[in-house]
Amino acid sequence: TYVIAASCVDVKDRACLIECPVDCIYEGNRTLYINPDECVDCRACEPVCPVEAIFHEDDVPERWAGYAAVNAEYFRTS
Ligand code: SF4
Repeated sequence: TYVIAASCVDVKDRACLIECPVDCIYEGNRTLYINPDECVDCRACEPVCPVEAIFHEDDVPERWAGYAAVNAEYFRTS
């Protein structure tokens, strides 16, 4: 699955949301989130993000390692 990390906070450009073929990117209060149960790993979202907030789960930078869980947690609680 792909993961949206910290750079999206208070940006929410939404270019990714428009690109995603399965509509698995959702808008929260301060950031967008990818639903890991719906993402099909197509990578369409990653290159269109203007702040490079999107990473494959295996390539999330160390400082943002917790963001895979942050994205997943959003869908468990909402
Ligand atoms: Fe959507 Fe594809 Fe990005 Fe997954 S990788 S969030 S399916 S655009």
